[in-house]
Amino acid sequence: MIMFGKRKNEYKILNQMLDDAIAGRFEETTYNESELSKLQTKWKQYLTSARMSEKKLEKERENLKELITNISHQTKTPLTNVLLYAQLLEEQSMDEVCKEYVEEIVTYSKKLDILLQSLVKMSRLETGVFQFVCKKDSLQKLALSVVNMGKVKATEKEITIVCSFDYEKDCENTCENEIKAVYDSKWTVEAIYNILDNAIKYSEPKTEIEVSIFRYELFAGIQIKDAGLGISEEEIPRIFGRFYRGEQVHDKTGIGVGLYLSREIIEGQGGYIKVVSEVGEGSSFQIFLPV
Ligand code: ADP
Repeated sequence: MIMFGKRKNEYKILNQMLDDAIAGRFEETTYNESELSKLQTKWKQYLTSARMSEKKLEKERENLKELITNISHQTKTPLTNVLLYAQLLEEQSMDEVCKEYVEEIVTYSKKLDILLQSLVKMSRLETGVFQFVCKKDSLQKLALSVVNMGKVKATEKEITIVCSFDYEKDCENTCENEIKAVYDSKWTVEAIYNILDNAIKYSEPKTEIEVSIFRYELFAGIQIKDAGLGISEEEIPRIFGRFYRGEQVHDKTGIGVGLYLSREIIEGQGGYIKVVSEVGEGSSFQIFLPV
């Protein structure tokens, strides 16, 4: 009977130790030779080392972020100058071979610039130091911003972007048609534009891209449907990987981080992206955002 009472008390102390550890206020209370006291000492040592590794990890993440930001800042001016001089050279008269070399310099400088900007974005998203500023806002407005960003490139390829909504009518005259979701406007525009940009890039000229808005009970979102190259079923899980580029797209510009960033941004806000595609037929990307 006495043993039972003692054990019950020990369990109570152990339970309290765990509660205190979870709340971050664990302190040793007994200092003697008992097994419980030894356990408390070990428990304290474990918590201290766990806390130290957590702090070390956080510091390392901060350092990495700072390093990437520094690299980006330090390379900005030389890179801008390379591009500027290459563009000045382009205006000079020169033979075909030199012209080709200068064009290559311009292409690779631009690519390097995009790569550095993407690295900064990736590190900001991955380190989790930064916070999305989400508010409930119109999806028609969001889709329209994205479509406007893609208009120039689409026009160059004579691609028609068909919007299945009428922004003016939906939002300005009859507000009840407006569909809303919770999102960070600046980052979400960028995430969805990456998807529209791909749709334009991986479609043949004179085709159509359809942009529509949908609403379900818990999520609402935007769908971008193209009649382009299409993606095979095995490839779909890989396209969101960092620096992944499809084998059949190496003749197109790109560095393979667009979809990776899009997914980080959308999932970071509690949403998700769904892809349905068929090779040679086209792809449909649905971006779900919480309502
Ligand atoms: P990038 O376009 O720079 O290659 P992304 O991360 O944006 O990088 O896309 C990764 C890969 O997914 C692309 O290289 C391509 O193979 C495939 N992909 C993405 N969007 C489409 C699309 N709309 N149609 C066909 N393939 C696509």
